[in-house]
Amino acid sequence: MLELKNVSKFYYNKGMVSAGFSRVNLKFDLGEFIAITGESGSGKSTLLNVISGLDSYEEGEMYINGEETSHYSEKDYEEYRKRYVGNIFQNFNLVNSYTVYQNIELVLLLNGKKKKDIKNKVIEIIKQVDLYKYRNRKVSKLSGGQKQRVAIGRVLAMNTPIILADEPTGNLDKKSSESVLKLLHDLSKNKLVIVVTHNYDQIEKYITRKITMHDGKVINDQKIRDYEKVTESNVTDFSDIKLSNKIRLGVRNAFNIFSKFILIFAVYLFVLSSIFFSYSSFKQVEYEASTNGYNIFFGYDSDKRIIIRKNDKSSITDIDYKNIEKLSNVDYVVKNDLLVETSLVLSSDNYYLSGKVSNLSFINEVNYGDLPKKDDEVVIEMSKDNYYFKSLSKNKLNTEFVVENLTTFNKKYVVKIVGIICRDDYDNDYDVHFYVPDKFQDDLNKNLNRAASNVKYNFMGIDGTSYYQSYNYEILPSSKVSKGKVLIPEEYNYRCKENNCKNESFKINISNMYFSKNANYTVIGNTDKKNFTNLTGYNYENYNNCIFINDKDYDSLFSEDYFQSSVFVLNTKDVRKTIVELNDMGYKTLYLVDTLTTDNAFSYIIRIVMLCALTLLLIFLFFISYFIIRLILKSRNVYYSTLRILGSSSRAISDLLKIELLTISHTAFIAFTIYVLLNYFGVINLQNIKESCDYLTFGNYVIMYICLMVMTLLVSNRYSRKLFKNSVMNTYREEV
Ligand code: ADP
Ligand code: MG
Repeated sequence: MLELKNVSKFYYNKGMVSAGFSRVNLKFDLGEFIAITGESGSGKSTLLNVISGLDSYEEGEMYINGEETSHYSEKDYEEYRKRYVGNIFQNFNLVNSYTVYQNIELVLLLNGKKKKDIKNKVIEIIKQVDLYKYRNRKVSKLSGGQKQRVAIGRVLAMNTPIILADEPTGNLDKKSSESVLKLLHDLSKNKLVIVVTHNYDQIEKYITRKITMHDGKVINDQKIRDYEKVTESNVTDFSDIKLSNKIRLGVRNAFNIFSKFILIFAVYLFVLSSIFFSYSSFKQVEYEASTNGYNIFFGYDSDKRIIIRKNDKSSITDIDYKNIEKLSNVDYVVKNDLLVETSLVLSSDNYYLSGKVSNLSFINEVNYGDLPKKDDEVVIEMSKDNYYFKSLSKNKLNTEFVVENLTTFNKKYVVKIVGIICRDDYDNDYDVHFYVPDKFQDDLNKNLNRAASNVKYNFMGIDGTSYYQSYNYEILPSSKVSKGKVLIPEEYNYRCKENNCKNESFKINISNMYFSKNANYTVIGNTDKKNFTNLTGYNYENYNNCIFINDKDYDSLFSEDYFQSSVFVLNTKDVRKTIVELNDMGYKTLYLVDTLTTDNAFSYIIRIVMLCALTLLLIFLFFISYFIIRLILKSRNVYYSTLRILGSSSRAISDLLKIELLTISHTAFIAFTIYVLLNYFGVINLQNIKESCDYLTFGNYVIMYICLMVMTLLVSNRYSRKLFKNSVMNTYREEV
């Protein structure tokens, strides 16, 4: 059934060619039990490996059942090995991390049997080689004789017509050798068994033929006794491993050598965290680039600010504010949108403080001093490194400050800072934040409304415009004027009959982007140089051209409901959701970040550079992880070679490797995700992981997952391609 005609095998080693054996002519039949002897280096192993299809030959022709094999591809050899050849080696060549049971089961699984169908068969074989007691023991913990019996069990399971044993008793004591040889003999009834041995005497009583080799040549081929001719060769039915068993074995292999698992797991964790941090910093830069623009109408372009107005243009009521504040992502609402734009400036002899204003209701305690009790008391929040804070001793609190940008006409608007909140993490050492009582805020609002309004008046049919802080025909408040009355400058008298304007009507119109309204006053008289201060409370030099109305009337002109407010969100990641919610509630929204004008070319360049860097990093990570994993997997070459010796297809082996690596990469991904989630929910508190989370969405994690899996598949493909480039023995030798 097997025939070699003039077959030679050469080894190429560093440019040197040497012969493993040369011009060998041999013919083998089923039923034979053959011993090959010869001194070390005579080519016995090489011959056996060629017959097994584990190594190629260079010259001559080998026939299997009459079929030429010189044209055989690796695939043909795979099939040949699976159907025909069972191997036994001097060093056993078992899967050391598997149990006895698993080693034998492996053969049947690779042959496409179902796991549940083979249980009895495996046990039966284990009993046959007398290892039932050890069936669940790891092979690495067995003695040499026991190991070789496992190898024989494996061959029994393969049930191939040819059994090739290369010095099977070389590492065994006499008694174990005897039992191994006897088992082999029992096997040989209807098979071809070839045993390479050093110990011819021990095997002589079993064999039918003896072949002696010397220096790569067959020098003697001698019949010892007759054998029963077998006509039928019962070739094992040929099918490939089932998918479920591939998964089962792949997952088993992933965890079964713990140190290897941990190493590869660590590589994946490293890859994953590199992708995680670089990806999130990419997102961060991208995000910051998007917020780096400016808007010429709105100065305060915080990425947390959404400006709202009602769709029906009506004013925003307290009920509206309550409902808005109920939204989960809303931090607070600043009712008067103009207040957001305004910086308050306070000054005293030594200090000059400027910053944004919020209502006192936003705070409930201070670090130094007290919360305000009066209308003219404020709290200030600032960095610990602020010059004012550093130069302050506690008893110096309560100093008076003049509000520089709150117009109070002829008198100063004075407030006291009574409390301080100081913080480590304040953005800016110069910036401060004021928390002010309602009355102060109200004054500010009115002032802002005045500044933003167009004020027109009509007197005796002639229109005039009152410019803010112009002194020219400006309308000003005075407590000395009665309600509903107006004092006009002397020069307007000419418009009236006999220069007497008393009781004439004076119309004022206020309009700004939110509201417009009219008011009507009655002239009570006019000012002149003599009575000016007496009548108005203002000094003549500056204000002689101005028009005066009662201060309460003045206030009510500019105190109005709010038509435009700013909503501040807690989390910018969810800002889109909040905008949709606000739209659904009937508000027109403007998210400032969307309106920013940026230097597009520049931000595109940043993006492209970052994307290139990210791609390069991915490629770099791929090669790093490939080389590390390749190093780690090198120790697995024996395992994969063993599978090939057992007749596994290359397809099945690369699938097993794929599943093994995918299992580990999934484990790493899950572990990493759990770790990130624990940080996200504050169970573990690693600030930079938490911050990175803020820039990544679910989709980004999906992309990271895909990257990792693609990388895993590429690594495993690359590795298995390399694995199958070599013949089995070459791959095997690389490691052993
Ligand atoms: P045996 O099994 O009879 O001891 P081998 O078949 O192992 O002999 O070796 C036969 C010859 O081939 C020896 O000269 C040996 O040096 C050579 N040889 C075996 N394996 C290799 C190899 N991988 N590379 C180069 N030469 C080899
Ligand atoms: Mg040898």
